[in-house]
Amino acid sequence: MSVTSRQSDFRPDDNAAPMALAEARRRIVDSIRPVQETERVALPQALHRVLAEPVVAGVDVPSAANSSMDGFGYAAAGAPQADARLAIIGQSLAGHPFEGHVGPGECVRITTGAVVPPGVDTVVMQENTRLEHDTLVLESPAAPGANIRLAGEDLSRGDIVLPAGSFIRPADIAVLASVGAAEVSVVRRPRVAFFSTGDELRPIDGPLAPGEIYDSNRYGLAAQLDSLGMTGVDLGAVGDTPEALADAFDRAADCDAVITSGGVSVGSADFVVDVLGEKGTIDFWRVAIKPGKPLAFGTVGGARFFGLPGNPVSTAVTFIQLVRPALVRLAGGVPAAPTRLTLPTTTALTKRPGREHFLRARMDFTSASPRVTAIDHQGSGVMRSMSRADAFIVLSADSADVPAGALVTVEPFAQPVWGFAAF
Ligand code: AMP
Ligand code: MG
Repeated sequence: MSVTSRQSDFRPDDNAAPMALAEARRRIVDSIRPVQETERVALPQALHRVLAEPVVAGVDVPSAANSSMDGFGYAAAGAPQADARLAIIGQSLAGHPFEGHVGPGECVRITTGAVVPPGVDTVVMQENTRLEHDTLVLESPAAPGANIRLAGEDLSRGDIVLPAGSFIRPADIAVLASVGAAEVSVVRRPRVAFFSTGDELRPIDGPLAPGEIYDSNRYGLAAQLDSLGMTGVDLGAVGDTPEALADAFDRAADCDAVITSGGVSVGSADFVVDVLGEKGTIDFWRVAIKPGKPLAFGTVGGARFFGLPGNPVSTAVTFIQLVRPALVRLAGGVPAAPTRLTLPTTTALTKRPGREHFLRARMDFTSASPRVTAIDHQGSGVMRSMSRADAFIVLSADSADVPAGALVTVEPFAQPVWGFAAF
């Protein structure tokens, strides 16, 4: 099948200028329809899931005014002076409130978190007092209202605790627990089918004949999906024939997304784009980045399709730059803007204008002047360049060679992937 017979809204064309990465990312993310199904889970199971409905506070947090210090509570109007003396009439402990009313000239011993009794509006730290028998001497009185946490100061009944679309982090689990949200509604995990293509690929638990390689991309993709909380559906390694690919597409079509590696170039054994044109739709297949120029995007059945290039670094870079934000949206979340900083490069970098480059690099924050160093070997087949790196040096499409010491844009890999949903 020839290139011109491929079906597409955008008519992929070998001579067309490749699409800019930002444009490709925007189109991809905008085209994603988040998974709609939801499920209720017990709060501990909600970690790293996406909230499907807002959680509304059913209680005030804290539920009552309470002390933020171990000390003594009293009415400021009744005893504001230094060396004022107050009668200690009882105590309020966390979980054991003082039952009575505290009048002028009186105080109660109070512990952190204990309910502030009626009549008390101020707590003085224990360290600023001294005891004389049953009398408290205020050596240095607290400011009126000091050391009291008001009811509902953190959350009031009816407040939205977290909006729908929130990715639930450990702190969110604690906030949700603070309003007694024992169960929450979360978005079903997306089911993401993936397979690699190539007649040279072998499973990792057997020997290699000459010319064969281990199917490393599939394991890398599985790990990426795992770390994003997706349900990966591993369809194995598929041979370089249109028939085998068509069969794999059919098996993948009932998932929410499909990711493949390899077979998207213009080689004689690259059939992914052809088969995608028959089985689904193609949106585009060339993006102006290095590594990773050939890339197919489209649909298969109800699933979004991402055909990534086979060179392992290209697979990883295109996954991070284009697939990951799409999967975050698919999962009902908000893709975070990439974290970017500016650091001096310790070495000169060669670059021809044209494509946006993602050099694998290592950041160094150990000295007073942070810097970044590109990994020596930048070949798109050298996966160790990813595994030894913690950041990309991002060189814009129009930039040329960069001298040592120049400031460059750096994008850490371990950037937050999940942004905050809007209230
Ligand atoms: P392709 O994109 O199919 O032209 O493959 C480009 C390069 O990536 C070739 O050297 C392939 O052998 C290699 N490659 C393709 N798929 C994989 C894979 N699953 N694991 C490791 N390397 C691969
Ligand atoms: Mg191939």
